[in-house]
Amino acid sequence: MCSSASVVRPVGLSGAGDPSGEVLREIPLPPYVTGEDAQFAARAVVVHAPQRWSGGTICRSEASPHPCRLHRWGRRVLVLHGLPPAEIDALIERGDPNAEPRPHRPGA
Ligand SMILES: [Zn+2]
Repeated sequence: MCSSASVVRPVGLSGAGDPSGEVLREIPLPPYVTGEDAQFAARAVVVHAPQRWSGGTICRSEASPHPCRLHRWGRRVLVLHGLPPAEIDALIERGDPNAEPRPHRPGA
């Protein structure tokens, strides 16, 4: 419990570079995953889906090695949202960026 990572919402994903010069390695996760976050994450993993390439698997969106940063972020958010990995894989396979990610609630 010593992580004091400053929590920043991923609003400026396409914004200009960080003035501190720090490289964005991992996108910070939201402190609490809202439905809106989950929706955005679902879109991220679908848009940044893996694509097979002769040299391996790449991101369909930006052609960087898969999983790219945004895909990893989306996956983690969806896991926090309560989606089992199988459900996330199914979401990616469906390829619908507007799919509504629902947390699994057994017995609900
Ligand atoms: Zn990507």
